[in-house]
Amino acid sequence: MGPAAPARPLRVLLVGAGGIGCPAAWGLVRAGGAEVTLLDPDVVEPSNLPRQLLYAPGDVGRPKAVVAAERLGAGAHGVPERLDERNAERWIGAADVVIDATDGARTKDWLNLTAVRLGRPLVHAAGLRGEARLLGVRAGGRPCLACLFGRLEQEAGTCADLGVFGPVVAVAGFRAAQEAHALAAGAGGPAHYEVLDLLGGRAVRLEVGADPGCPVCSAGPPALEPYPAAEACAAPAPAAEPAPAAAHRLDLTTERCPLNLLRARQALEALAPGEVAEFWLGAEGAGTVPAGLRRLGHEVLSEEARGAGLRLLARRARRVQRTEPLAAALLARFARQIVLPDVGEAGQRRLLDARVEVHGAGDALASAAVLLAAAGVGGLWLVSEGPPGPGPGGADLLAFLAARAVGEVRPGAAPAAARARRVSLPAAGSGGPLAELLAGAHAAQRVLLALLGLGPRPDPGAPPR
Ligand SMILES: [Zn+2]
Repeated sequence: MGPAAPARPLRVLLVGAGGIGCPAAWGLVRAGGAEVTLLDPDVVEPSNLPRQLLYAPGDVGRPKAVVAAERLGAGAHGVPERLDERNAERWIGAADVVIDATDGARTKDWLNLTAVRLGRPLVHAAGLRGEARLLGVRAGGRPCLACLFGRLEQEAGTCADLGVFGPVVAVAGFRAAQEAHALAAGAGGPAHYEVLDLLGGRAVRLEVGADPGCPVCSAGPPALEPYPAAEACAAPAPAAEPAPAAAHRLDLTTERCPLNLLRARQALEALAPGEVAEFWLGAEGAGTVPAGLRRLGHEVLSEEARGAGLRLLARRARRVQRTEPLAAALLARFARQIVLPDVGEAGQRRLLDARVEVHGAGDALASAAVLLAAAGVGGLWLVSEGPPGPGPGGADLLAFLAARAVGEVRPGAAPAAARARRVSLPAAGSGGPLAELLAGAHAAQRVLLALLGLGPRPDPGAPPR
């Protein structure tokens, strides 16, 4: 079973209802014994769907915090507000433990300082590319996030670099939920920083100590600071002049990240080798497209500043792997997977074409199926070897999947003609729903890597390629 039930529910403040917040909230509500408040000012966007697993295409444009609380039902409250220095005391003060499910280094730095200041334990959770990272910070720090990394004043990467797979952030979210219970229970022993490398199949758990000169937690509670201003991934600023319309010219001045780079790549790779295309970029694209095209082997011939943006000439590389471009709606929905260098449009197409038969039971089956459907696996068959777990909020699993899958989801074995890859989930252990949800997320990540030909080792149940 899970952690012992406390006398009253554990009050958990989840800051961010995105890729980490959705699974963390699902796990906390499913495991019981917690009241979750989700705080997030954003609305659902199509590119959220592959990893923010509580949302369906019909939710696009609605406030995430409200939708998430609706899906999870009793035990979850949603507040479509940004946490900042004006409301921090109210929300953090009312919580037993805070989970940092935000993205962006400066936001994480601010939340660490604010939780240390207000004397509440904080679980720092992050997912980036193939890695999930976790640090439990006790009330008052010692150690805190700044003991490990100092103050984080710069974003770690541009938004186009921040591709990630749903199971990676799900692992971070489910682990954060476990850690919230452990911190609240006052688990003793040294603090650990955990790095789970889900592409390499490795886990590192580093014992960490307090930095005697930590700028946040070494000299008593720090002063509150204002919420950090505009992140790198803010709305694009238009260039000074509109782009002229012509063949081999593409106006991306109002495009959003990371679609700037994906659409520039699509346009350039549609040309013959050696041909030149002209791109008009807004401020956001100017920061990511030239470097991104170079990384893909294309030649950047010129970059001229145009207001806050750029006019860019680029020559298509001699050799690129030609793939049929994905339709615009699929490109937008799966952008943050496609932008991963090992995936691209060809990889996403393999996922969309894939057929998988999942054997398992309980919450592991539910989480593996939800994550595979969200990632765009085109056909899923669920073979229950015991009662399947419910979807988030106790929803019927198949109905929950049907509202989100790009392809079909059915109970029972796949027909032979589907040539489905067979995957068996580990049998349920004694760790309770959170451990099972976590096991399902790990299994989903292994399946995705195997489908993409990237896994650390082949899936023993897989048919020969
Ligand atoms: Zn510190």
